[in-house]
Amino acid sequence: MSMNKPSLQEKIARLRVSFVEQLPKRLEDAYKHLNLLKSDTEMNRVVAIELHRAFHSLKGTGKSFGFIDLANIADKAETYMQQFIDLPDYCTPSGWPEVLVDLMHQMAAQVQILVYADLKQNVLLDSPYFNLEDVTDVQSCPSGNPLIYICDDEPDQVDHLAYQLSCFGYRIKHFTDINAFHQAVLKKRPDAVVMDVFFPHSRTAGTDELASLKAITGQHLPSIVLSGRDDFEARLSAVRAGCSAYFLKPAKPLDLAAALDDLMCDKQDEPFRILLVDDEREVAEYHSLILEEAGMVVYQTNKPAMILEALRSFNPDLVLADMYMPVCDGVEMASIIRQVSEYVGLPIMFLSSETNRKKQFTAMQVGVEGFITKPVIPEELVASVALRAERMRTLRSLMAKDSLTGLYNHTTTTEMMTAALVHAMRQQEDLAVVMIDLDKFKTVNDTYGHMAGDQVIVAIARLLKNRLRATDVIGRYGGEEFALLLKDIRPEKALRLVNELREDFSKIIFNAGNAKFKVTFSAGISLYPDYNRPEDLRMAADAALYKAKELGRNQVVVSDVSKVHE
Ligand code: GH3
Ligand code: MG
Ligand code: MG
Repeated sequence: MSMNKPSLQEKIARLRVSFVEQLPKRLEDAYKHLNLLKSDTEMNRVVAIELHRAFHSLKGTGKSFGFIDLANIADKAETYMQQFIDLPDYCTPSGWPEVLVDLMHQMAAQVQILVYADLKQNVLLDSPYFNLEDVTDVQSCPSGNPLIYICDDEPDQVDHLAYQLSCFGYRIKHFTDINAFHQAVLKKRPDAVVMDVFFPHSRTAGTDELASLKAITGQHLPSIVLSGRDDFEARLSAVRAGCSAYFLKPAKPLDLAAALDDLMCDKQDEPFRILLVDDEREVAEYHSLILEEAGMVVYQTNKPAMILEALRSFNPDLVLADMYMPVCDGVEMASIIRQVSEYVGLPIMFLSSETNRKKQFTAMQVGVEGFITKPVIPEELVASVALRAERMRTLRSLMAKDSLTGLYNHTTTTEMMTAALVHAMRQQEDLAVVMIDLDKFKTVNDTYGHMAGDQVIVAIARLLKNRLRATDVIGRYGGEEFALLLKDIRPEKALRLVNELREDFSKIIFNAGNAKFKVTFSAGISLYPDYNRPEDLRMAADAALYKAKELGRNQVVVSDVSKVHE
């Protein structure tokens, strides 16, 4: 962790300070409400509800930050207000208003203590509910294409391998010397290493290489061994040094690319997206810190009224909401979410200090997944949110993705095209729609078999995934047809990119038994703002693709809008 970045502990300490700083104002407001309650019988109900809410939130937030005494007093005041609200209008609970005034005084005393402690800058600096050791480090994602170091002292073999891997979008650095390789790993960490551990010319019979491999795997770097030896002993020593895969030379580039993909897929997994709705800023901050520290992306809003907008723009895997909010309560908000068909399956969880069974039951009836009781235990919060978000991911992915390639299926791609266009129009950005179709693919199947054909489809999917940005959409639009949505890209750049993809793809060598073959594709591109309806964009890209086929295949055509309007 760098020196300038505040630690989680520091961030939480700051939140607590900010909470304490607001306490006098909150107390003052509560006193005002109390006076209103005493004088104005007309407004009684509204004021009582407001006071109840204020105490409730003091209780919850107080507990979250470890101010137990304050929380306990607020709890009593909340209970008292609940009685007040539950009684008919003309009644007042027993002991009114002395009980309440007394509780308020107790609260004021607590607030004084806390504010004083805050000034003294002690007490507040340790947060009782957080154990830093238990929090996993956030994995930093690689930017750009995956970087692979290959270490092997047989240059001829490696050149071919490196070249083929680069066609899939891997950045390759080749080393022939184990020491230079090791220094490079220390200097700039790659995403994975591929290395021979038994250099034929090595005098140490692999000792140096294995030691180097062991040091690398010790740093949790995915590593693949390439080896000329197929004996048990060689394999065992590689496994003991911590390698994740073992390939006999000459390794097939396609197999190696598949292994690299598998090894790195964990890293490429997108973090869970959590939408947090809470009217209390500090509590929301605190919970979002916990989730962010566990590697999730959190979007906070304190306005339940913004929920639909937030769902659309942030597209969360889970909604975590406070049950108790002023404008509309959590149950009402959950009902609103459930009434939109797209969000029927979206997990909603409540954070609440609500132990009232009946209220929880009402919440369950509108399809809330579960409750996390405040004060939350960070590990429990992270675990229960991750569990449900993961399930949502799996379900979504089963519905939205194609099983052979992991790309978006036809339906999802079509939906995303509309969404991308809406986004582009709103942001006044360019958008390119690309339709790709493999050339003479029927012949590939007929000549080399359907399995070989599938291998080609997986390879192009891998190439596209490695080469495009995370914001771009890649869909398997039909059997051997693919659709790309390239966002915020100039037409010239889109054309150049698709041409590069086409050229790289055409160089990949496929194997079927002893036969080797290559495949090409044709592509058509259409652009927004040339077309401004999803259907028009799609048809224009299709027409351009058809043109590319007509012109002889293995080429890219950009839809010419001037011809359309003639
Ligand atoms: P063109 O250059 O004109 O596109 O010729 P083509 O042979 O690719 O065109 P056509 O659309 O006639 O044939 C597509 C073939 O793709 C037919 C089908 O057997 C094959 N195909 C579609 N999906 C899959 C798949 O998932 N796996 C395999 N192996 N083949 C597939
Ligand atoms: Mg086709
Ligand atoms: Mg085809």
